Amino acid sequence: MSIQKFFKIGKHKIYPICRSLTGDGTLKTLKIIKKNFKKLKIRNFNSRQKVFDWKIPSQWDIKDAYIIDKYKKKIVNFKNNNLHIVGYSIPINKKIDLEQLLQKLYTISNKQDAIPYITSYYKKSWGFCVTERFKRKLRKDYNIKDKFHVVIDSKFNQRGKLNYGEYYIKGKSKKEILISTYICHPSMANDNLSGIIVSMALINFFNSRKNNKSIRFLFLPETIGSIAYIYKNLNILKRNVIGGYILSCIGDDKNHSCMFTKYGDKISDDCLRQTYKQKKINYKNYSFLHRGSDERQFCSPGIDLPLASIFRTKYGEFSEYHNSMDNFNLVTLKGLNGGFAVAKQSILNLDKRIIPIAKHICEPQLGKRGLYKLLSEKNVIDNQDCWKILDFLQYADGTNDINKIAKYIKLDTSIVKKLYSFLVGEKLLQ
Ligand code: ZN
Repeated sequence: MSIQKFFKIGKHKIYPICRSLTGDGTLKTLKIIKKNFKKLKIRNFNSRQKVFDWKIPSQWDIKDAYIIDKYKKKIVNFKNNNLHIVGYSIPINKKIDLEQLLQKLYTISNKQDAIPYITSYYKKSWGFCVTERFKRKLRKDYNIKDKFHVVIDSKFNQRGKLNYGEYYIKGKSKKEILISTYICHPSMANDNLSGIIVSMALINFFNSRKNNKSIRFLFLPETIGSIAYIYKNLNILKRNVIGGYILSCIGDDKNHSCMFTKYGDKISDDCLRQTYKQKKINYKNYSFLHRGSDERQFCSPGIDLPLASIFRTKYGEFSEYHNSMDNFNLVTLKGLNGGFAVAKQSILNLDKRIIPIAKHICEPQLGKRGLYKLLSEKNVIDNQDCWKILDFLQYADGTNDINKIAKYIKLDTSIVKKLYSFLVGEKLLQ
């Protein structure tokens, strides 16, 4: 099982790190991935750079955070669990009473023992995340005017960086399959350390084989990272990406689920459907209206990249979601292997698809190439209707594979395959 190695790296080395949109933790995570895959490029954007309608936030780093009670006891300690702090908390060092402290404690009221995951990236704020049980105990054990020393040793750097990772596997063709996962969540296993682990296992697998298409893996901070990446690379993405997947919450062993692209009609959707069928997996398909991750960017108007999402249990659909229960009781080797198998097979399916692209803008002039005659002599298709060539070329716009073209132009796939080879020979396809 090739994923085992990456499961161990994920669990023991990456899981404990406090990650965020920016900062040392995220960089450290990328360096661990790079240690295993030397060709990983760690790149960055500068804080405050404008990307479409957004601005890269300041780099945020945190050294320590805690709450000390009147007996000098550390009752909350960031070093025990990095979810204890609201992500992007401003620095604080002051004494407040219980009444004020309670205003700054975040819990999940119906989950006694879970620490929630909360962030405040774009609004200056601070706070601690604790269990509901802890908050109730505070109310019971202290008086409302008791003092607490709250310390958050964080800093913002306006000249900082937002780091991300990019790994490219060159295939026979420049046309590429894009795999994206996000690296900005702190210690939670399914959301989204599982995406990082599965991506590493996929890099390992596809590195060792000859691929028809190139494959690009992205390790991005969610939302702002994908927006910035698209901002920088839109033209090349539009030119080369023929399909791909976003990997999110892909490590539990409870369900298989996915979200197809906006219209559900792309080759990536088709290859994913094919995978579930090949593996006889029952899966749930979530509507695009329930999107929550980077499909919001990759599939947005003007970008329209054909990326579907692969989940085991989708974000927001499991009770451990965005809290401290999202750990390695939920994410298992078996669960990760199941997610890996679906992603791997879907990429293999994509890699096999022939996606013809017409070389000429507007209709090519068949007459000057003598194609009417050639066509009948070579007996490429049984009827001599040269419209079939033009039909084929009309649908060879990079969004259809051979099977789909066959359906559109109402010809047998085997004939369309011959037609394809013929048109490649005639240099009418890219
Ligand atoms: Zn999340």
